Amino acid sequence: LSLLYEFRPEVLLADIQMPQCTGPELAQVIRMHDDWMHVPIVYVSGASAGADQMLATRKAGEAFVSKPIDPRELVATLRANGRHARQVAEAVSRDGLTGVLKRSFIQEYLVSALERAQRAGSSTSVAMIDIDHFKAVNDVHGHPVGDLVIRTLAATLRQRLRASDGLGRVGGEEFLAVLPDCGAEEAKALLGAALQRFREIAFASAVGEFNCSFSAGIAEARGGELSDAQLVGLSDQALYAAKRGGRNRIHRARPRRKPSSPAGPVPLPPA
Ligand code: GH3
Ligand code: MG
Ligand code: MG
Repeated sequence: LSLLYEFRPEVLLADIQMPQCTGPELAQVIRMHDDWMHVPIVYVSGASAGADQMLATRKAGEAFVSKPIDPRELVATLRANGRHARQVAEAVSRDGLTGVLKRSFIQEYLVSALERAQRAGSSTSVAMIDIDHFKAVNDVHGHPVGDLVIRTLAATLRQRLRASDGLGRVGGEEFLAVLPDCGAEEAKALLGAALQRFREIAFASAVGEFNCSFSAGIAEARGGELSDAQLVGLSDQALYAAKRGGRNRIHRARPRRKPSSPAGPVPLPPA
């Protein structure tokens, strides 16, 4: 199981007959874990596999390759199962309105980004982004136009972020961006470019044309110095500072003076 967590396979290939257990028995153990409940398993049946076992796996809807293995059949079966697993995972992880990650998935993305950063000793920045005076947009122009504004912001952010950056919708009109290998200054410049672009977009409704802006709070962790929750908390505080400072701006959580142990207390940014 620890290997599964390290490697994170999309598909498992298992013999039906193994020295200590059968493939389906192994599958039962693996599937007891939530994370692996839906991983596709492709069974390889040897000549000695009983007809009952083959029937059982077929009934369970599992894919099947018989020995002697035809390499092309094996590759095609694994590929089809991998593709299906990816499609399911995509559909489950994406927010319906904007197509960016759902809340729990961007949180997961942040956790693994921080793990990588700890190993590499690199910086990770996060940005909490919230549309300004959005309630008024809904009130004046209607909810469907509000939805369009949310979708447009998601697309604008996605265009400016790098392919390796994660973006998730964490509230109605709130987004969280995770930027691996990125310091707070660079993140601020990136978000600044997105803000400038977003402000320029002219939205239209029956009531008339209008523009929107957002505020963002940015926090940076060097290596593994902060937990995901601490980092998000700091970016949230920076977002509130940006709102208090007049909105339509990006506020950076103040860099911490001296690094402390990961378990140490988190200094709060200035009020
Ligand atoms: P602030 O500048 O302080 O952020 O002001 P605000 O009006 O944006 O404040 P607030 O965060 O309280 O307002 C968020 C509004 O977003 C409230 C809710 O009606 C609306 N909202 C939440 N989810 C959706 C959605 O999916 N679609 C639309 N159109 N509106 C939504
Ligand atoms: Mg909000
Ligand atoms: Mg808002």
